[in-house]
Amino acid sequence: MPGPDETVQPEAGRDFIRDIIQADLDAKRVDAVVTRFPPEPNGYLHIGHAKSICLNFGVAQEFGGRCHLRFDDTNPTKEEQEFIDAIEADVRWLGFDWGKHLYHASDYFEQLYQWAEHLVRNGKAYVDDTPVEEMRAMRGSLTEPGRNSPYRERGIEENLDLFRRMRKGEFPNGARVLRAKIDMAAGNMNMRDPVLYRILHAEHPRTGRAWCIYPTYDFAHGQSDAIEHVTHSLCTLEFEDHRPLYDWLIENLPVPSRPRQYEFARLNMTYTVLSKRFLTRLVREGRVSGWDDPRMPTLAGLRRRGVPPAAIRDFVRRVGMARANSVVDVALFEYSIRELLNKIASRYMAVLRPLKVVIENYPEGPGEELEAVNNPGDESAGTRRIRFGRELYVERDDFMENPPKKFFRLAPGREVRLRYGYFITCREAVKDAGGEVVELRCSYDPATRGGNAPDGRKVQATIHWVAAVDAVPAEVRLYNQLFARPDPGADGDLMADLSPSSLEILADARVEPALAAMNTGDAVQFERQGYFCRDKDSKPGRPVFNRTVGLRDSWAKVQAKG
Ligand code: ATP
Ligand code: MG
Repeated sequence: MPGPDETVQPEAGRDFIRDIIQADLDAKRVDAVVTRFPPEPNGYLHIGHAKSICLNFGVAQEFGGRCHLRFDDTNPTKEEQEFIDAIEADVRWLGFDWGKHLYHASDYFEQLYQWAEHLVRNGKAYVDDTPVEEMRAMRGSLTEPGRNSPYRERGIEENLDLFRRMRKGEFPNGARVLRAKIDMAAGNMNMRDPVLYRILHAEHPRTGRAWCIYPTYDFAHGQSDAIEHVTHSLCTLEFEDHRPLYDWLIENLPVPSRPRQYEFARLNMTYTVLSKRFLTRLVREGRVSGWDDPRMPTLAGLRRRGVPPAAIRDFVRRVGMARANSVVDVALFEYSIRELLNKIASRYMAVLRPLKVVIENYPEGPGEELEAVNNPGDESAGTRRIRFGRELYVERDDFMENPPKKFFRLAPGREVRLRYGYFITCREAVKDAGGEVVELRCSYDPATRGGNAPDGRKVQATIHWVAAVDAVPAEVRLYNQLFARPDPGADGDLMADLSPSSLEILADARVEPALAAMNTGDAVQFERQGYFCRDKDSKPGRPVFNRTVGLRDSWAKVQAKG
């Protein structure tokens, strides 16, 4: 990723937003592009936010402008320092930097208040004492116009006095609000005298007890953009209907600049819920281990699962910027992850469900070392030495006592290749009292060292293994989709659609020693199994691994079918 000062070439015609920006620059409507990413610190960022981050920071980089990080912290009852810290860390992790341009809507509380008084003085805002429920009823509906409040024609002096007393804390929560005086019959409900300020005796993470009235999101958002000289205010489609209100406020206030808003489609993905409210419920109700549970679509969860930030950026690029809402197949996301990990992750052997193998004709003792390739696609990744011995572990699934036709792996009398090692033949399956296979007695052919028989005979399968003498016991966590259906909540109940098999814990895996020396988050491939990374729950001598994604490329299948 380039730094904030470097300019990346914009891709011509790449999407409608970049086209608009290019046209604005060409026509000199703006000198430099200023964008912002405006999260509300009431939860952790998720993959949907990544789309907005990549867009806002991305166009700023490409067009040589700048992007601000601004916390829209106007609702002190839901916002927390933990979320502020996590958001900053996650934006950085994703590869973006706001430099010195870190702002908060709360930085502008005094200015916003002064502008609210400005509206009052110009007869464009009034204090309304109507109780909340009644006010809601009087707003009308899509088919019915609203009704004017009895307080709508209050005099300017009375409004000013009441608004100042609201600020001073003379009234309890909900007693009064400040409303814009626009049009109760407007077809757009957002223009029916929207609330600009509400009374909220609550402590704010940044301003403490300085305020007991807070601006609404709608009043704070556009003006904050104007204060920061944001040129292109990029947001998701649900704000399209708010644009006339933002424009009305900008026209009626002495703001220092005139931002323009453009809307793009939210990211939606199959098997995934991207609603902070619902993700908060999952955490609060203990349905997941926390905001960074690897099954969560949060950036913290994806990071812990081993998804590299470059894979997220690549995915967002592939999804593109459309103006119409749609649902992206989660398989496309997995494709981006696999594409990248295939290039960067070194390969190791790990046996997830071990079955012991004893090679009867192999000498007792320390065994020998074999050479293994770290990444067949990248010679510079080099090779490593792995131990081979008389006792090994192989995958339980790689043996069948009565194999069906197309099963070519271990079975009584069957010869297979051990990866990087020898051909072995299964002589006998040893069973316990319950009839379960607990050990395989095998023989090996010393002439096949390195994986080929001098007489040219072939085997149909190559399987992975680890040597019993130095294998490290490990826990492996296999993650599946959090939801059991592609369209969670379609029947109205999201919780009911949580999958009972979203996490499978394999507590008795064995991995080669090199894997025990990994750092938290390092991406590796377990040969024939998938991509994994070491989890922070690891203990000395007992690493824990998360499956990031399996090897199977379901996206290729989807495409082939399509
Ligand atoms: P909520 O879940 O409460 O609706 P939010 O996800 O909109 O909240 P914000 O903190 O307001 O959370 O979002 C910050 C920015 O990220 C906004 O500009 C918003 O439009 C954008 N954003 C949020 N969700 C998505 C998404 N799924 N796809 C693209 N952009 C998103
Ligand atoms: Mg929002």
